Amino acid sequence: MISIEEALSKILSEISVTNRELVPLEESLGRILADNVYADRDYPPFHRSTMDGYAIKSADYDSSKIYHCKKEIFAGMESNLDPGEEIVKIMTGAPVPEGLDAVIKIEDSQELSLENSVSKVKLNSDKIFYFMNIAVRGEDLKKGEFVLGSGTKIGMPEISLLASLGVDNVSVNSLPTVSIVSTGNEVVPVGSTPLPFQIRDSNSYSLIAILNRYNIKPKSIVLVPDEEIKITEALDKGLESDILLLSGGVSMGSMDLIPPILERLGVKKIFHKVSLKPGKPIWFGKKGKTVVFGLPGNPFSVQVCARIFLDPYIRSCLGMQISEPLRYVFYGKRKKKSSLPEFFPAFLETKDKTGLSSKSFNGSGDIRAGLFADGIALHPGEQAEILEGNVLNFFPW
Ligand code: AMP
Ligand code: MG
Repeated sequence: MISIEEALSKILSEISVTNRELVPLEESLGRILADNVYADRDYPPFHRSTMDGYAIKSADYDSSKIYHCKKEIFAGMESNLDPGEEIVKIMTGAPVPEGLDAVIKIEDSQELSLENSVSKVKLNSDKIFYFMNIAVRGEDLKKGEFVLGSGTKIGMPEISLLASLGVDNVSVNSLPTVSIVSTGNEVVPVGSTPLPFQIRDSNSYSLIAILNRYNIKPKSIVLVPDEEIKITEALDKGLESDILLLSGGVSMGSMDLIPPILERLGVKKIFHKVSLKPGKPIWFGKKGKTVVFGLPGNPFSVQVCARIFLDPYIRSCLGMQISEPLRYVFYGKRKKKSSLPEFFPAFLETKDKTGLSSKSFNGSGDIRAGLFADGIALHPGEQAEILEGNVLNFFPW
């Protein structure tokens, strides 16, 4: 049986889809940049006042002097000094006229009189320095400077920045197409009333949750009973997608029909079974451009396999970095019986520092197992017991 690391590396060597497309900026949230982004001009593009006040030349500042102010400059105005003009009234966001280099805020000024559009003003600031209350042209970004790398996910700060840079159509990596097939005579759709011996399909929704992170909407979601002909039909159709996600039917039971059917359909097995709990029976293979994840049916097994194997695969398809596990101390003790590495639901808790705690659950079929957890922690295979203070790998959901 191969290890988690070997399985992941085999999965990641089967990346096939990285086309790109242009999407309107407003539709780009959650998508992944296909290209690096550079600043199209300096930011700020001009010396920008960061206060409402008076722009002056710092070297001319004199708190006993009475200044004559003839002009008020607002954001969105071009600004120039007229000959002999010493100060201007200036509002936040307005360009500071050439020749002036500091802004004294309005609270530190006193307007003495206003006649013929000329106001007499005294300025009284307890400090003055070059570029006081001014955001200097290019201080945030220089024209041509690297801003965002390809593989970046577009969220709030990124979309705001792209808008500032004038990127109205964004080049993003195309999304893979995905089909989901769940098998099991006992599995019924969420909306139907299960008979006493039936259960509702929850696995499709765990998989949808992972796909949704990357804006991927599955092409099809189907439930099939454990019947060879129906499974064959569903898998054959599902193989038209870039990724086929299966749940159920990959263990050793007499109704676990998936692996032989996949092989009959020409899907090459890359591995079957990985040394981990839960999720040991996972099957992975490929036909043409399509990769197939055969996940075991238990809800927590699906969640673990989806987080540990599927999520990194999708990230790689989209040109994203794979998130490394976080490292946290463990609060409490945990024993395990088997020699397999074991994932368990864990939540973050802060005592003197932030660490991991766990709640007990009834195994991988427990529908609440993933709940109350911020993610899953790994109990290393070789360690029969983890003790308070041991440092563990943690994978946030
Ligand atoms: P299997 O891997 O097919 O042997 O299924 C293992 C367990 O997972 C069984 O108890 C199934 O009833 C359950 N199961 C299978 N498919 C689903 C599903 N789509 N949603 C929730 N539970 C499932
Ligand atoms: Mg089954």
